[in-house]
Amino acid sequence: MIKKKVCMLGAFAVGKTSLVQRYVNSIFHEKYQTTLGVKIDKKSITSEGQPIELILWDLAGEDEFMEVRSAYLRGSAAVMLVADGTRDETLDIAIKLKNRVYSEVGTIPFILLVNKSDLKDKWRIDQFMLDQLANQGWEILHTSAKSSENVEDAFQRLARQLIEPGERPS
Ligand code: GDP
Ligand code: MG
Repeated sequence: MIKKKVCMLGAFAVGKTSLVQRYVNSIFHEKYQTTLGVKIDKKSITSEGQPIELILWDLAGEDEFMEVRSAYLRGSAAVMLVADGTRDETLDIAIKLKNRVYSEVGTIPFILLVNKSDLKDKWRIDQFMLDQLANQGWEILHTSAKSSENVEDAFQRLARQLIEPGERPS
């Protein structure tokens, strides 16, 4: 079976761990869980009729963008970029992280998740910036690890990009 390393990337507390736990274990915790080191979860799925195992790397604790170590990114086939809809600055961090990935790993597939869609009345995200990114070809989804909205779909879409590589957005 094809195995692909996928890194979860994004600012502190955007919901990276929650999204993986929702996707892999169908659970959600309100309480913040500090992850220590790197946690690796695996999920086998089928995309375009092909079996594929996603090896999900979830980095812990001090994961502000400059702290992401090169060793964490190395060997990634794709990345899941996560921003928090309630905190606009997390979008800038996601953009910087994507640039970091492109320069260190190459133009690998990625999807931007604007997470916490269950809190849309509290969203502060820059919609103009999101529209610009979408025009550049970014695949963007609104997700909620709490309600599970679009979580399954997000990983399926990323898997599809892994199996059928198209053009990479800038
Ligand atoms: P990480 O630092 O990016 O791994 O973030 P966590 O997954 O630990 O989540 C940080 C906090 O946000 C926790 O209190 C979670 O319960 C909460 N959280 C994560 N995803 C969601 C979501 O989709 N909706 C809501 N309402 N809270 C979320
Ligand atoms: Mg975490």
